[in-house]
Amino acid sequence: MTLTEKIMARAAGKGRVEAGDNVWVKADILMTHDVCGPGTIGVFKREFGAAAKVWDRKAVVIIPDHYIFTVDSKSNRNVDILRDFAREQEIAYFYDVIDSPAGTWKFDAAKGPLERQYGSHYAGVCHTALPQKGHTRPGEILFGTDSHTCMAGAFNEFATGIGNTDAGFVMGTGKLLLKVPETMHFRLEGKLQPGVMAKDVILHCIGEIGFDGATYRAMQFDGEGVRNLTMDDRMTIANMAIEAGGKNAIFEFDDQTRAAVDYRCKLNGTRADYQPVERDAAEKFVHETVVNLSKLEPTVACHPDPGQRKLARELVGMKLDRAYVGSCTGGKTSDFLEAARVLRGRKVVIDTFGVPATPEIVHDLQSAWWGDKSVWQILVEAGVQMTENAGCAACLGGPVDTFGRMNAPLKCISATNRNFPGRMGHRESQVFLASPATVAASALTGHITDPRDYLS
Ligand code: SF4
Repeated sequence: MTLTEKIMARAAGKGRVEAGDNVWVKADILMTHDVCGPGTIGVFKREFGAAAKVWDRKAVVIIPDHYIFTVDSKSNRNVDILRDFAREQEIAYFYDVIDSPAGTWKFDAAKGPLERQYGSHYAGVCHTALPQKGHTRPGEILFGTDSHTCMAGAFNEFATGIGNTDAGFVMGTGKLLLKVPETMHFRLEGKLQPGVMAKDVILHCIGEIGFDGATYRAMQFDGEGVRNLTMDDRMTIANMAIEAGGKNAIFEFDDQTRAAVDYRCKLNGTRADYQPVERDAAEKFVHETVVNLSKLEPTVACHPDPGQRKLARELVGMKLDRAYVGSCTGGKTSDFLEAARVLRGRKVVIDTFGVPATPEIVHDLQSAWWGDKSVWQILVEAGVQMTENAGCAACLGGPVDTFGRMNAPLKCISATNRNFPGRMGHRESQVFLASPATVAASALTGHITDPRDYLS
């Protein structure tokens, strides 16, 4: 069996499963957020009754993160609905925007978009927050009401996005009927060269198979090249499996996985026991690709879909209006460090936005010193508009006052993960997906630029 089949067999209480089998699997974690949480709660109440209790109050994780820093009253209200539900159900892991359990959330536009407005429980973007808060464990099943839930596959678990109806059912029962996906095999060899990042790996892979090339399939990443990738790198790659239509992504378990998971579970007091799955000789794949990491170059996915692959150096004539570093995929500490390496001592020439994925990342960047300046200061002095309000921001467009949203038909190079028309705001805007290093280099020139031109 493949890694995905092994996890699904275990969660279904079976000795083995095969691609195409329909099995009931037990969920370990169900995650929801402010966009889909209210709908999921509505389905749960409608189907199980107004007085029903969730199947496990410690297994439902609620993370407001999407439309938070906006004056839009309906968006603010969604956070209040989550708070009421968390209180009623005694949900153990609700990462509220505010500290008062009896309060209401309201964004204060008068303070401006850059100054932090959240309390001490707020966790930021769900997919980045889940591992930081100790909710991703090898061998488990994680469901989330968000398509990029597949990011947690970096931790050797089966993680996938589900709709509100399925999530309402999981909330009440802790189970879901799933078809076992076929597995596509991506064997990674070698080591990334300076200026090339994990984002380039996944843009390369999606370019190979197309933006629907993994539809309802597992994407398994393994091989000696994986050992040369950090956990952040693996998260970036797993995050974008859905951009090829993948049901999930999954990485092999190793010492890095163990260290990251053990540290986070201990830090946050979450369940620390888990059972990883390992490869065996009897795996059946429907597709094989070998990726030599050493040979990859900075890569871009052009408008209008993540499969439109080109090398950055082939696109030097493409003029841009703005640049954006952020999101679950591209707003991690390591992403900003790579951007800062390119931007240090230089100035951007187009509007450039920086949105850390989580408050912890804001703290990392403000407390990491390069010489006499923090990385945060280096980015700000280069002209990047850095907000402390960690969240999804303009990755998904959002209400018109969302930080970094494209409210006009602009061209943007972005470290985010999706570039279908209208994704970041205006329906005639264009988004070019790239690594944070490529975004930073392009911000310095105003056109798509290979970051290796700026390596010192
Ligand atoms: S940062 Fe973007 S891709 Fe990630 S969860 Fe938020 S909206 Fe979705």
